[in-house]
Amino acid sequence: MPELPEVETVRRRLEPVLVGRRFDRVEIFDPRLTRPEDPLEVAAELAGERVEAVERRGKYLVVRFESGRTLLVHLRMTGSLLHVGELDGDDPHRRAVVGLDDGTSLVYRDVRRFGTWLLAEPGEAGPYLDARLGREPLAQAFTTRRLAEALAGRRAPVKAAILDQRRLAGVGNIYADEALWRARIHPQRPAGELGEDELRALHRGLRAALNAGIARQGATLRDYRTPDGGSGRMQHEFKVYGREGEPCERCGRPIEKTRAAGRGTWFCPSCQSAG
Ligand SMILES: [Zn+2]
Repeated sequence: MPELPEVETVRRRLEPVLVGRRFDRVEIFDPRLTRPEDPLEVAAELAGERVEAVERRGKYLVVRFESGRTLLVHLRMTGSLLHVGELDGDDPHRRAVVGLDDGTSLVYRDVRRFGTWLLAEPGEAGPYLDARLGREPLAQAFTTRRLAEALAGRRAPVKAAILDQRRLAGVGNIYADEALWRARIHPQRPAGELGEDELRALHRGLRAALNAGIARQGATLRDYRTPDGGSGRMQHEFKVYGREGEPCERCGRPIEKTRAAGRGTWFCPSCQSAG
Protein backbone atom coordinates (compact mmCIF):
# COMPACT_ATOMS: atom_id res chain seq x y z
CA MET A 1 0.00 0.00 0.00
CA PRO A 2 1.23 3.51 -0.68
CA GLU A 3 3.39 4.91 2.11
CA LEU A 4 5.00 8.31 2.58
CA PRO A 5 7.35 8.08 -0.45
CA GLU A 6 4.55 7.00 -2.77
CA VAL A 7 2.16 9.73 -1.59
CA GLU A 8 4.94 12.32 -1.75
CA THR A 9 5.70 11.23 -5.31
CA VAL A 10 2.02 11.66 -6.23
CA ARG A 11 2.01 15.08 -4.55
CA ARG A 12 5.08 16.27 -6.43
CA ARG A 13 3.64 15.18 -9.77
CA LEU A 14 0.19 16.66 -9.13
CA GLU A 15 1.29 19.98 -7.65
CA PRO A 16 2.31 21.62 -10.97
CA VAL A 17 -0.80 20.43 -12.82
CA LEU A 18 -3.37 21.16 -10.09
CA VAL A 19 -2.32 24.43 -8.45
CA GLY A 20 -4.37 27.30 -9.90
CA ARG A 21 -6.81 24.91 -11.63
CA ARG A 22 -10.53 24.88 -10.93
CA PHE A 23 -12.52 21.69 -10.39
CA ASP A 24 -15.11 22.11 -13.19
CA ARG A 25 -17.03 18.82 -13.23
CA VAL A 26 -16.78 16.28 -10.44
CA GLU A 27 -18.22 12.78 -10.62
CA ILE A 28 -17.93 10.31 -7.75
CA PHE A 29 -19.17 6.84 -8.67
CA ASP A 30 -18.50 4.96 -5.45
CA PRO A 31 -20.37 5.83 -2.23
CA ARG A 32 -17.62 4.12 -0.18
CA LEU A 33 -15.20 6.85 -1.20
CA THR A 34 -17.02 9.60 0.69
CA ARG A 35 -18.92 7.56 3.29
CA PRO A 36 -20.82 8.57 5.38
CA GLU A 37 -21.32 11.63 3.14
CA ASP A 38 -23.44 11.33 0.00
CA PRO A 39 -21.08 11.17 -3.02
CA LEU A 40 -23.43 13.34 -5.09
CA GLU A 41 -23.36 16.04 -2.45
CA VAL A 42 -19.59 15.92 -2.08
CA ALA A 43 -19.17 16.10 -5.86
CA ALA A 44 -21.48 19.12 -6.01
CA GLU A 45 -19.57 20.82 -3.19
CA LEU A 46 -16.22 20.21 -4.91
CA ALA A 47 -17.33 21.64 -8.25
CA GLY A 48 -16.10 25.21 -8.61
CA GLU A 49 -13.30 24.92 -6.04
CA ARG A 50 -9.92 26.28 -7.16
CA VAL A 51 -6.73 24.57 -5.97
CA GLU A 52 -4.34 26.70 -3.95
CA ALA A 53 -1.84 24.06 -2.80
CA VAL A 54 -1.18 20.33 -2.91
CA GLU A 55 0.41 19.13 0.32
CA ARG A 56 1.02 15.88 2.16
CA ARG A 57 0.63 14.88 5.79
CA GLY A 58 1.63 11.30 6.63
CA LYS A 59 -0.04 9.16 3.98
CA TYR A 60 -2.74 11.77 3.28
CA LEU A 61 -2.72 13.88 0.14
CA VAL A 62 -3.96 17.32 1.19
CA VAL A 63 -5.56 19.44 -1.55
CA ARG A 64 -6.12 22.98 -0.28
CA PHE A 65 -8.61 25.20 -2.04
CA GLU A 66 -8.68 29.00 -2.23
CA SER A 67 -12.00 28.89 -0.36
CA GLY A 68 -10.21 27.54 2.73
CA ARG A 69 -11.72 24.10 2.32
CA THR A 70 -9.48 21.04 2.04
CA LEU A 71 -9.86 17.69 0.31
CA LEU A 72 -8.11 14.92 2.26
CA VAL A 73 -7.37 11.90 0.06
CA HIS A 74 -6.16 8.62 1.56
CA LEU A 75 -5.20 5.97 -0.99
CA ARG A 76 -5.24 3.10 1.57
CA MET A 77 -4.48 -0.24 -0.14
CA THR A 78 -4.90 0.27 -3.86
CA GLY A 79 -6.00 3.85 -4.60
CA SER A 80 -4.22 5.84 -7.28
CA LEU A 81 -4.58 9.24 -8.90
CA LEU A 82 -3.93 9.77 -12.59
CA HIS A 83 -3.72 13.04 -14.48
CA VAL A 84 -4.89 12.50 -18.05
CA GLY A 85 -5.65 14.54 -21.16
CA GLU A 86 -8.53 12.29 -22.11
CA LEU A 87 -10.33 9.42 -20.42
CA ASP A 88 -9.55 6.22 -22.24
CA GLY A 89 -12.28 3.59 -22.45
CA ASP A 90 -14.14 1.93 -19.64
CA ASP A 91 -12.29 1.27 -16.42
CA PRO A 92 -14.32 -0.75 -13.88
CA HIS A 93 -12.06 0.52 -11.08
CA ARG A 94 -12.56 4.20 -11.84
CA ARG A 95 -14.21 5.67 -8.72
CA ALA A 96 -14.13 9.41 -9.40
CA VAL A 97 -13.27 11.86 -12.16
CA VAL A 98 -12.51 15.55 -11.73
CA GLY A 99 -12.65 17.61 -14.91
CA LEU A 100 -10.29 20.58 -14.60
CA ASP A 101 -10.75 24.00 -16.21
CA ASP A 102 -7.85 23.38 -18.63
CA GLY A 103 -9.65 20.40 -20.17
CA THR A 104 -7.55 17.73 -18.45
CA SER A 105 -8.88 15.30 -15.86
CA LEU A 106 -7.86 13.90 -12.52
CA VAL A 107 -8.94 10.26 -12.29
CA TYR A 108 -9.17 8.30 -9.06
CA ARG A 109 -9.06 4.52 -9.42
CA ASP A 110 -9.16 1.95 -6.65
CA VAL A 111 -9.43 -1.84 -6.99
CA ARG A 112 -10.04 -2.75 -3.34
CA ARG A 113 -12.07 0.40 -2.58
CA PHE A 114 -10.62 1.22 0.83
CA GLY A 115 -9.52 4.73 -0.20
CA THR A 116 -11.30 7.80 1.17
CA TRP A 117 -12.07 11.37 0.13
CA LEU A 118 -13.00 13.75 2.93
CA LEU A 119 -13.96 17.34 2.18
CA ALA A 120 -13.09 19.42 5.25
CA GLU A 121 -14.52 22.86 5.89
CA PRO A 122 -12.12 25.77 6.64
CA GLY A 123 -10.27 25.14 9.88
CA GLU A 124 -11.23 21.46 10.12
CA ALA A 125 -8.38 19.74 8.29
CA GLY A 126 -5.57 20.65 10.68
CA PRO A 127 -7.24 19.33 13.85
CA TYR A 128 -8.47 16.23 11.95
CA LEU A 129 -4.96 15.34 10.83
CA ASP A 130 -3.23 16.28 14.09
CA ALA A 131 -5.60 13.98 16.02
CA ARG A 132 -4.53 11.03 13.85
CA LEU A 133 -0.91 11.67 12.99
CA GLY A 134 2.35 12.08 14.86
CA ARG A 135 5.52 13.70 13.61
CA GLU A 136 6.64 13.95 10.00
CA PRO A 137 9.88 11.98 9.76
CA LEU A 138 11.28 14.12 6.94
CA ALA A 139 10.49 17.47 8.59
CA GLN A 140 13.47 19.53 9.71
CA ALA A 141 12.08 19.62 13.22
CA PHE A 142 12.15 15.83 13.42
CA THR A 143 15.40 15.23 15.30
CA THR A 144 16.79 12.14 17.03
CA ARG A 145 15.41 13.63 20.25
CA ARG A 146 11.91 13.80 18.78
CA LEU A 147 12.21 10.17 17.71
CA ALA A 148 13.39 9.23 21.20
CA GLU A 149 10.34 10.98 22.69
CA ALA A 150 8.04 9.07 20.34
CA LEU A 151 9.51 5.73 21.41
CA ALA A 152 10.21 6.43 25.10
CA GLY A 153 8.71 3.96 27.55
CA ARG A 154 7.23 1.75 24.83
CA ARG A 155 7.53 -1.97 25.41
CA ALA A 156 6.09 -2.76 21.98
CA PRO A 157 8.50 -4.01 19.30
CA VAL A 158 10.24 -1.12 17.60
CA LYS A 159 8.64 -2.15 14.31
CA ALA A 160 5.16 -1.71 15.80
CA ALA A 161 6.15 1.62 17.33
CA ILE A 162 7.38 3.13 14.07
CA LEU A 163 4.29 1.86 12.24
CA ASP A 164 2.04 3.67 14.73
CA GLN A 165 0.79 6.66 12.72
CA ARG A 166 0.01 8.60 15.88
CA ARG A 167 3.71 8.58 16.76
CA LEU A 168 5.33 8.76 13.36
CA ALA A 169 3.37 9.72 10.25
CA GLY A 170 3.75 7.98 6.92
CA VAL A 171 5.90 4.91 7.67
CA GLY A 172 4.31 1.62 6.58
CA ASN A 173 5.41 -2.00 6.40
CA ILE A 174 7.95 -1.63 3.59
CA TYR A 175 9.85 1.40 4.79
CA ALA A 176 9.78 0.23 8.43
CA ASP A 177 11.68 -2.94 7.46
CA GLU A 178 14.05 -0.99 5.23
CA ALA A 179 14.79 1.58 7.95
CA LEU A 180 15.43 -1.06 10.62
CA TRP A 181 17.87 -2.88 8.31
CA ARG A 182 19.71 0.36 7.64
CA ALA A 183 19.85 1.02 11.41
CA ARG A 184 20.97 -2.59 12.15
CA ILE A 185 18.15 -2.98 14.67
CA HIS A 186 16.10 -6.17 15.06
CA PRO A 187 12.38 -5.46 14.43
CA GLN A 188 11.35 -7.19 17.69
CA ARG A 189 13.50 -5.00 19.96
CA PRO A 190 11.34 -3.22 22.55
CA ALA A 191 11.09 0.37 21.30
CA GLY A 192 11.78 1.97 24.65
CA GLU A 193 15.02 0.03 25.17
CA LEU A 194 16.98 1.47 22.26
CA GLY A 195 20.21 3.21 23.25
CA GLU A 196 21.42 6.63 22.11
CA ASP A 197 23.47 5.25 19.23
CA GLU A 198 20.62 3.05 18.08
CA LEU A 199 18.18 5.94 18.14
CA ARG A 200 20.58 7.99 16.04
CA ALA A 201 20.96 5.10 13.61
CA LEU A 202 17.20 4.60 13.41
CA HIS A 203 16.64 8.31 12.79
CA ARG A 204 19.17 8.19 9.95
CA GLY A 205 17.77 4.90 8.67
CA LEU A 206 14.20 6.17 8.55
CA ARG A 207 15.13 9.26 6.61
CA ALA A 208 17.47 7.38 4.26
CA ALA A 209 14.88 4.69 3.50
CA LEU A 210 12.10 7.24 2.89
CA ASN A 211 14.32 9.49 0.77
CA ALA A 212 15.48 6.52 -1.29
CA GLY A 213 11.83 5.70 -1.96
CA ILE A 214 11.03 9.26 -3.03
CA ALA A 215 14.11 9.42 -5.28
CA ARG A 216 12.85 6.30 -7.11
CA GLN A 217 9.22 7.53 -7.39
CA GLY A 218 8.04 4.99 -4.83
CA ALA A 219 7.64 1.24 -5.04
CA THR A 220 5.19 -0.42 -7.44
CA LEU A 221 4.27 -3.85 -6.07
CA ARG A 222 0.72 -4.06 -7.36
CA ASP A 223 -1.50 -1.07 -8.00
CA TYR A 224 0.58 1.96 -7.14
CA ARG A 225 1.15 4.23 -10.13
CA THR A 226 2.56 7.70 -10.51
CA PRO A 227 0.01 10.25 -11.82
CA ASP A 228 1.30 9.81 -15.39
CA GLY A 229 0.59 6.07 -15.20
CA GLY A 230 4.22 5.06 -14.68
CA SER A 231 5.67 2.69 -12.10
CA GLY A 232 7.97 3.46 -9.22
CA ARG A 233 11.41 1.82 -9.18
CA MET A 234 12.03 1.37 -5.45
CA GLN A 235 10.90 -2.29 -5.54
CA HIS A 236 14.14 -3.14 -7.37
CA GLU A 237 16.26 -1.72 -4.55
CA PHE A 238 14.79 -3.15 -1.38
CA LYS A 239 17.44 -4.22 1.11
CA VAL A 240 15.20 -6.70 2.95
CA TYR A 241 11.50 -6.25 2.12
CA GLY A 242 10.21 -9.33 0.25
CA ARG A 243 13.78 -10.75 -0.08
CA GLU A 244 13.48 -13.87 2.12
CA GLY A 245 16.36 -16.28 1.41
CA GLU A 246 18.35 -13.75 -0.62
CA PRO A 247 21.75 -12.63 0.70
CA CYS A 248 22.02 -9.57 2.92
CA GLU A 249 23.88 -6.93 0.93
CA ARG A 250 26.00 -6.13 4.02
CA CYS A 251 26.96 -9.54 5.41
CA GLY A 252 25.80 -12.17 2.90
CA ARG A 253 23.59 -14.12 5.32
CA PRO A 254 20.14 -14.99 3.94
CA ILE A 255 17.38 -12.54 4.77
CA GLU A 256 14.73 -14.08 7.02
CA LYS A 257 11.01 -13.48 7.29
CA THR A 258 9.10 -13.34 10.55
CA ARG A 259 6.02 -11.60 11.91
CA ALA A 260 6.20 -8.40 13.93
CA ALA A 261 3.39 -6.00 14.73
CA GLY A 262 1.09 -8.53 13.01
CA ARG A 263 2.82 -7.93 9.69
CA GLY A 264 5.16 -9.90 7.47
CA THR A 265 8.62 -8.65 8.45
CA TRP A 266 11.97 -9.13 6.72
CA PHE A 267 15.33 -8.68 8.42
CA CYS A 268 18.92 -9.90 8.48
CA PRO A 269 19.42 -12.26 11.45
CA SER A 270 23.12 -11.54 11.49
CA CYS A 271 23.53 -7.79 11.31
CA GLN A 272 20.30 -6.57 12.88
CA SER A 273 21.02 -6.71 16.59
CA ALA A 274 18.50 -8.32 18.90
CA GLY A 275 20.08 -6.35 21.76
ZN1 LIG B 1 23.30 -8.79 7.23
